[in-house]
Amino acid sequence: MTSPTWRKRAACKGLDPEVFYPASDEEAEEAKAICGECPVRQLCLEHALGHRERDGVWGGLTERERRRLVRQRRKTA
Ligand code: SF4
Repeated sequence: MTSPTWRKRAACKGLDPEVFYPASDEEAEEAKAICGECPVRQLCLEHALGHRERDGVWGGLTERERRRLVRQRRKTA
């Protein structure tokens, strides 16, 4: 599978992936700060939601935060 083109513009490109897989939400701040500056944050987030990515920080949200967002969207749909 080829990776989506937005990945080429990702702020996390070339960085240590470990940063994006923190052991807890409390340790996700570094990753979130990088996502906060990322030009493709929304695309990344939608990709993670669409592919049901379970682990790691995507689009500035942790796994738990993404689950919360999915629940909120279901309620408002
Ligand atoms: S939003 Fe975060 S995880 Fe997604 S591409 Fe940007 S820096 Fe990487």
